[in-house]
Amino acid sequence: MNTVKTAFIQTIIEKLLTYNDESRSYNLECVDIPCVTAPIDDNFYQLPQELIDDITTKPYEVMIGPQINMTRNTEIEIRVNIMYDEYETSHVYVIIPSVVSDYQGYCACQENEIGYNTLKRCTGVACDWDRPSFQLEKTKYYGEFEWGKLQKDFWAYEQDVYNNQKIEVTQEKIIKKKQNIERIKERIRKMNLELDEQEKELQEYEDEIS
Ligand SMILES: [Zn+2]
Repeated sequence: MNTVKTAFIQTIIEKLLTYNDESRSYNLECVDIPCVTAPIDDNFYQLPQELIDDITTKPYEVMIGPQINMTRNTEIEIRVNIMYDEYETSHVYVIIPSVVSDYQGYCACQENEIGYNTLKRCTGVACDWDRPSFQLEKTKYYGEFEWGKLQKDFWAYEQDVYNNQKIEVTQEKIIKKKQNIERIKERIRKMNLELDEQEKELQEYEDEIS
């Protein structure tokens, strides 16, 4: 059991090291590896039994990739592909590293306090910090579905998507414009009524004195 855990975390660390090497070569921010692995390590035996069983009995592959909707390179997800065999994925566990803000109070630690960490400038006991965490999801892998036609057919499709999008946007604008015109016409109709009324009243006053 312990070796399963060790191997799992070691695989994740190795993949993250590679990921960071690549990030570094593109001058991108690196992932804080201990921050990612700490909650996995700490919660390993609380993980769903099916995940533990899967990584104990089946081959699996760990992949690191950017999170969907990521804003920074450091926002990653860890995909644990559970394999049927060497080639085919059965299902995937997705680990989404995160942090939870732990508000314990603004740090006022003093250098002379017991346990004061000079590097972190804090005793690390009861101060505000970001507690490492992760979310875990399980997804079913159904396979890969390819565009089966020619590349030129794809280009035509591409053009269609953009054209249709343009038509859609223009149609929306037309609807909005028509609504605006209707509103203005309604305002004019009401103002005309008011104008008629005012003129009628004026006529009545003038008639009175004539
Ligand atoms: Zn502190």
